This record gives sequence, structure tokens and C-alpha cells, in this order.
Amino acid sequence: MEEKFSIAIDGPAGAGKSTIAKKVARTLEFVYVDTGAMYRAMALYMLRQGYTAAEARRDPQAYEAKASAACQDAKISIEYRDGEQVVLLNGENVNSLIRTEEVSEMASVTSAIPAVRTKLVELQQELAMAQDVVMDGRDIGTVVLPKAQVKVYLTASVEVRAKRRYIENVQKQKAGKDVPAADLDPDKISREIADRDYRDMHREISPLKQAEDAALVDSSDMTIDEVAETILNLYASKKGRPQVITAKTAGFCFGVQKAVDAVYGEALRAARDSSAGPINTFGPIIHNEEVVRDLQDKGVGVIETEEEIDAQQGGTIVIRSHGVPKRLYDKISGSGAKCVDTTCTFVKRIHEIVQKESLAGKKIIIIGNHGHAEVEGTKGWSLTPAAVIETAEEARSLSLDPGTPVCVVAQTTFNGEKFEELVAILQKKSYNVSMNNTICNATRERQSEAREIARRADIMIVIGGKSSSNTAKLYEICKKECNRTCFIQTAADLDLKLDGSERLIGITAGASTPNKIIEEVQKDVRRTDF
Ligand code: C5P
Repeated sequence: MEEKFSIAIDGPAGAGKSTIAKKVARTLEFVYVDTGAMYRAMALYMLRQGYTAAEARRDPQAYEAKASAACQDAKISIEYRDGEQVVLLNGENVNSLIRTEEVSEMASVTSAIPAVRTKLVELQQELAMAQDVVMDGRDIGTVVLPKAQVKVYLTASVEVRAKRRYIENVQKQKAGKDVPAADLDPDKISREIADRDYRDMHREISPLKQAEDAALVDSSDMTIDEVAETILNLYASKKGRPQVITAKTAGFCFGVQKAVDAVYGEALRAARDSSAGPINTFGPIIHNEEVVRDLQDKGVGVIETEEEIDAQQGGTIVIRSHGVPKRLYDKISGSGAKCVDTTCTFVKRIHEIVQKESLAGKKIIIIGNHGHAEVEGTKGWSLTPAAVIETAEEARSLSLDPGTPVCVVAQTTFNGEKFEELVAILQKKSYNVSMNNTICNATRERQSEAREIARRADIMIVIGGKSSSNTAKLYEICKKECNRTCFIQTAADLDLKLDGSERLIGITAGASTPNKIIEEVQKDVRRTDF
């Protein structure tokens, strides 16, 4: 039988083990086994038998004797429903009952009992023998799967872990779940985590400790994606595959996220209120067909013309993050429909500069792409005709009256290096140029991170819609550094030809690329054979 691959992730409570393990399992299409849930199910059984953690701690020997006998009647098994692990306690799905602090505490006490461990370790080993697994717990690398090919000891400071748990509980409560008051007390959570660490690390049987051959990962200052990537790259090393690095700045920027969230919010509101009227975005909310289609399914349409604004009866019109010319802004605001303005704050700032400086008599020059929605919108805030410069050629051939003061702004997503080049040309032309580098920080960071990764990568993948100009600029930047740079819209376009020599594959994505698409590409890249 082919040897199964096991990834063992151990560590204290709240280090992010289950979130990370699930993500890694999804990417590799492994089965995720949450062993903590099994101990929790056993703890629930004991609580139902009338035992309490306090009592167990008062007289550990008596509890051990009782629990060793009682646990024999608890049949714990695991099933997978829609890819989710379901823990069955004597046939009952107890997933929703085992996440309280009361059960956590009881699990920590109960898991120290040898008879309980013997029973559950056996079940865990059977699961790992039957399939490739990502298994998390306290003793996976040391006791359950000592031969696991990848072992990770994942930890984080007590403060960080307590904060995560607190936020999780608050969110549960906000979602309408019943959360005991004790689970919402940050100090209490912190104390319980520290106590639980102590018990898990100091028990006689299978204490929590780092296996000698486990990689130590401290997640205190890392995002979920960063930790998952670290583990996936450990797996890649074992399998002789290239490392994969995804830019931290890949995907939705703050402004796009805000705009998309606003539209989904409007759709939800309209679904609850039958008198809300039609919802339309003026132009597609982002350059991504999948998102636009999904919104369409939720009743959000797209209008493109002034006639359509005039024709709309009530309802809502959303101005997208690119912004619109002032004339259209006024038209939508005065149309009788509710105007939801999601113009990015960085773009709004450019509108303000352009309006103010043109009023002061300056000639407005926009460094950006002809015809791009943001540039067209910006043009429309200048009181006098604005010029758009995209290439060095255009900058050189622009004729300026030397006496006219000039105000230069940039499209927020323009290529920073190219902006500097064009500015240098313009500065030679007039004595009175006020320069505004309005390329937004998110774009700057995205471009410099992409450049840095592309420099080291054997293959660079840039993901984004075909009409997304910020993605096209990322491609331009990466291609300069890495000859094997490809521009794809979705995972379906990916055509990786690996020859086995590649050590590093880099991934980045434009500001309008949804996370889901980035994840699909990551998954396919990780699974490509050569
Ligand atoms: O990981 P989780 O917090 O769900 O685990 C609950 C408890 O189960 C832990 O505090 C620990 O005492 C116990 N446990 C264990 N060995 C494992 C997994 C969990 O002892 N492999």
C-alpha cells in the first residue's frame, strides 16, 4: 500500500492550529483531523455523567478511576460531511456543543487520563493510516504520528492567543450564538489559557512539547496565510517541489473591499425590504466577471449610461471605487435614487486637488491610462480641460504655455517608476509645476513587493481581470524582473510547464482579484507536477 503523507501540527490552545490545519488540508486536498475535538467530545461525555472539572481537580485519583471506567462506554467516531469533520459521541453529532470554555477546561483535565488517551490515539492512528492527513493536537508529532513527514510546533504568546479567543467569542455572540458571560471576560480567558498550557505541558502522559524534528513556528506576528504558506513550503521541500510565495499585498485593496462590501450590504438590505427598489452599480463594481455575476444573482445590476440613470425609478445607484466625473456625481445624487458613493478615499483626494487647482487657474495634467474609469472620473472634476499623459512620447510632445501654472496628479494605480520618468520630462517644460504623486500606498506596496518576489522567482504569476489596468502594470513590473512571468485571469488559464529546475514560484494579484481566485491558483500551483 502506498505510504500516506502526514502533516502533524502541535501547539497550545489558540495558536491557530485548526484554522491553519484546515487551510493546509484544503490546499493539498488532505483530510483534516482535529484531535482536540475528540478529547472535547469525551469531556462532554464526562460532564453529562455529572462530573465537573473542579471536582476532578480536587481528587484526581478518584476522577481517574471513574473516568477510566466511564470512557469505555463513550464511542467517539469521526465523519466528514461536506468536507467538515463531524464528531460523533455515541452516534450524536456534538460539534456545536464542544466549543464552550467549560468543555475546554474539562477536556484538558480528562485528556490527562491514560485510558482516554489510549482509546483516542488508536482512532487517530487509524485515520492517518487510511489517508493523507493534516492532524492537529498536542502530541501528534511526539506520540500519535512520530513518523509524520512534516511536523510543526505552532505557538503564539498567551496575550495574542487570549485576544484571538476573545474576538472569536465576541463574533460568535454577534452572530446570535449563546456565549456564556465567562467566555467574554478577557482576563478570565487569559488565565484559563495559561492554566491550560500548564496542565497540557506538565501532565505525566503525552505532555505538550515540541518534537525534536518539528519546525517551530511562532504565529504571534503572522497572518493565517503566512503560517499556512510556511507549512505548505515545508511540505514542498519534502516532496522536492518548488517553494511558492504569494505576495501579502495580493488581492483586494482596502478601497475595493469597502466598495464590494457596500454593494453586498445593499443587496442584503434589498432582500429583506421588498420596497427597496432596484440596485445598480454605475459600471461593474470591480473588473471581475465572477463577482459581477454573483452580484447579479443577488439582484444587483450594472448600468453604464446617463440615460439609464434617468430611467431608474427610485432604488439605489452605487458609484464604484474608481469614482465618476462631477457632472455624473451630481446627476446620480439628484436622481431620486439613493446614491451610495464608494469612491476610494485616495481618488476623492485627487478630485479635491483637481477641483481646487483648476479653480485657481492651473492646467491639470493626469498621469494615467487613457480611457481608464478613474482617469475619466478625475478629468471630470477639473473646471478646465485636463490633459492625460500615459507615455514618455506624449509627455515630450505636450506643448505647454510656459506662463501657465501646471498641476500634475497621478492615477492611484499608476506604475511608480514610470510616473517618475514622465514627471522628469514634464518638469523640464514649465517653470511652474506643482507635483502631486497621488499613487496610493497600497499600489506602491503591491508593486514593490511584486518586484521583490519576481526578482527571486523562477516563475511569476500575476492574477487579475483582463481589463484591470493595475494588474497589467504589475505584469509589466514583474516581467522586467522575471522572464517567465504570466498574466492569468483565473486558475483555468494556468498553464505551468515545470521542468523540475524551478525553486521558487511567486504569485501576486491586482486590487480587484478576489481571494477565492488567488486561493484556487495557489492550490493548482502547489499540485502541479513536472
Ligand atoms: O485543541 P483543543 O483546544 O480543541 O483541545 C482541547 C483539549 O484537548 C486540550 O486542552 C488538550 O488538553 C486536549 N488535547 C490533547 N491531545 C491532543 C489534542 C487535544 O491532550 N492531541
